[in-house]
Parts: sequence; C-alpha cells; structure tokens
Amino acid sequence: MPHTSAGPQIEQLITMLSRLPGLGPRSARRAVLHLIRKKEGLLIPLGRAMNEAAEHIRSCDTCGNIDVKNPCAICQAPGRDQTSLCVVEQVGDLWALERAGAHRGRYFVLGGVLSAIDGVRPEDLFIDRLLTLAETPQITEVILALSANVDGASTSHFLADSLAKTGVKVTTIARGVPVGGELDYLDDGTLAAALVSRKAI
Ligand SMILES: [Zn+2]
Repeated sequence: MPHTSAGPQIEQLITMLSRLPGLGPRSARRAVLHLIRKKEGLLIPLGRAMNEAAEHIRSCDTCGNIDVKNPCAICQAPGRDQTSLCVVEQVGDLWALERAGAHRGRYFVLGGVLSAIDGVRPEDLFIDRLLTLAETPQITEVILALSANVDGASTSHFLADSLAKTGVKVTTIARGVPVGGELDYLDDGTLAAALVSRKAI
C-alpha cells in the first residue's frame, strides 16, 4: 500500500528511510516531508553528504573503526596511549566510549559477539586479527568492553582464554552497566565509571 498520494520517487524515499533503525513508516513520512520543505538547506546537502560518505568511508584495516582514512584517525593519532587496547563489539560502541572521553588508548572492533542461538562462531568475528594485534610489543593491556549479557560474558571469557598465550594483561569493564545492557545506549557517566573500575578477568 502506498504511503502517500505522492509519486514513486517520494514513495521510494519513504520506504528506504523507514528501514533505518528507530524510524517506522510514520516517522519516515514526516522526515521526507521535512526534507522536501527544507530542500536547499537539508535535502540537497544531505544527498551530497550521503554520496560523499558512500564513496569515501571505509573500514580501518587495523581496528575496524570507520573513517575516510585507513588507518583511521584514532589509529593514527600520535597522542593516544599505544599500550592499551579496548575491544568493543561494534563501531557504535567505540563512538560511545569516545563521546564519554573514557578511553585514551586504541580500540578494536570485534564485529559482534559469539552466539550459539544466532550461530555466530569465532571465525565469524575478527578474533585472529585481535590476537595478532595483541602480540604487538607496545600493547600491554587489552580491555574487554562487551555487552553485559550472556553472549557478551561468554565472548569475554573466550577472548581472555585466547589472549592468555600472548602474555598481555586482560581486563573487563566493571558491571556498573545494567544486565542485558548494550554499550551504545548507556549514558556517558555510567560508561566512564564502568571503564575506570575495570578488573582482571
Ligand atoms: Zn583504526
């Protein structure tokens, strides 16, 4: 069923926007109307920014962050602590920790967590890449900052076992975070406190 009495291009725009997380058909319709009303100030620059992003953004070969540079700006930043590596599930978690200003070291994006139910196996994540990186002599600590749910916890234990042979110190963020909580949804203070009170795993 069409969303509006508008033409197919506008219908397609609404359909595509309604697939974004947090947007249903109703908010997609409102967003499209808003974009059309603000054609010069919003629709055209947004279209340009999306084109630009689609063309230049890529995943960092070192840490998995996304940026227009590879290695990314964080991996290349000279002022960052090169001894500490914080492992997160997704790029959104990395961004959340950066917003909180909670971690001054490097990051590694694992690509998810192990899950028997969802059929996610170790080879589906960037575990080999993490182990190689952890063997870099500069790195002395790996901080596991995964979600506080069953899959996050079992992945942390799997990683701690795998990292044991590298001799690096492995810590996990403290569970000031709610059980079942996903990092991306936490407020900055909770995240920062959880990172500060990390403990050996
Ligand atoms: Zn990077």
